Amino acid sequence: MLKLDAQHHPVIDLKATVFCIECGRRLIVQHTRTRTGRVYEYFVCHRRRDTVCQQRKALPIALVEQRVEDLYRTIELDPGQREGIEQIVLVKLHRQQAVDDERLTQITVEARTVETNQAKLIEAYCADAIDREVFLTHQRRLNAEQASLVRERARLESENTEIRQRVRDALDLLQDVHATYADAPVTVRKQLNRAIFAGIFLGPEPGQIRAELNEPFASITQPG
Ligand SMILES: [Zn+2]
Repeated sequence: MLKLDAQHHPVIDLKATVFCIECGRRLIVQHTRTRTGRVYEYFVCHRRRDTVCQQRKALPIALVEQRVEDLYRTIELDPGQREGIEQIVLVKLHRQQAVDDERLTQITVEARTVETNQAKLIEAYCADAIDREVFLTHQRRLNAEQASLVRERARLESENTEIRQRVRDALDLLQDVHATYADAPVTVRKQLNRAIFAGIFLGPEPGQIRAELNEPFASITQPG
C-alpha cells in the first residue's frame, strides 16, 4: 500500500473523466516514490508504452485537478446567461409543443374512430353478420390500435414536461458551478465531473484541454 504524504489533499477520482488529447485513450495513474518516501502521482497516457501515442509526458495529478477545476469557469453561467439560455430553450420546446399538440388532437380523432369501429364490430357480430373468428381478429386489431394511441398520448404528454425539467435542473447546476465544484467534497466533485463531462482531453501544455459535455449540458452551453 502506498502511504501518501500527510499534507496531501484527497485525490479526486478523475479516472473515468480524463483522456489523452493526442490519442483519445484514457489517462492512467502512476506513482513515483522518492528516496525520502514522498509519493508523487501522475497521469500518463495509457498508450504511451506501445509507441502509438506521441504524448509521453507525465501530468502531475494535482495539476490535472487544478486544470479540471479551472475548466468549470468556462462552462459556468451567471444568472443573466442562465435566463437567456432558458428563454432560447423554452422557445424551442414551445415549438415542439405546438407540433405535439397537433398530434394529440389527431390522436383524439383516431381514438374516436377506433371506438366507433369497435361498436360497429360488436353490432355486426351480434346481428350475426360476421362469424366469431372474424370478430376476434378485428377486435384484436382494434384493441392494439387503441393501446398504441394511449401509449403515444402518454409519451407526448410527459415528454415536454420532462425535457423542460431536465433543462432547468442542468441550468441550476451550471449556475455558479465553478464555486460549487471548488467547495465540494471529492465525492461530489467526482459526481459533477461524471454528470457534466463525457470526457476531458488533456495534454501537457496549459492550452491543451478540450471538453466534451454530456447532454443536455452540451446543447445548453452551445445553444444554436
Ligand atoms: Zn495518448
